Amino acid sequence: MGHQQDLGKTKIYSCPNCQADTPHVIKGQKNETCALLCSNCGTGSLVHSDELCLYQLHWEEELRQILGTLEQRLDDERYPD
Ligand SMILES: [Zn+2]
Repeated sequence: MGHQQDLGKTKIYSCPNCQADTPHVIKGQKNETCALLCSNCGTGSLVHSDELCLYQLHWEEELRQILGTLEQRLDDERYPD
């Protein structure tokens, strides 16, 4: 029951057709398996919810690092030594 809240949400996942990390919409979920649909090409993927969760964590960490780097650069420009 508590697993249905992710339906319709978009998660980043590796698309076998695009061969890249693309946004995927969660179209369905059965037990621990999620059915994802690539919003770029429409290819469906089945993925374990734990794996999807790990993928998000990895992605968010990378995003945070990139954003952190940008913020540092902006600070350098705003306050030059
Ligand atoms: Zn795709």
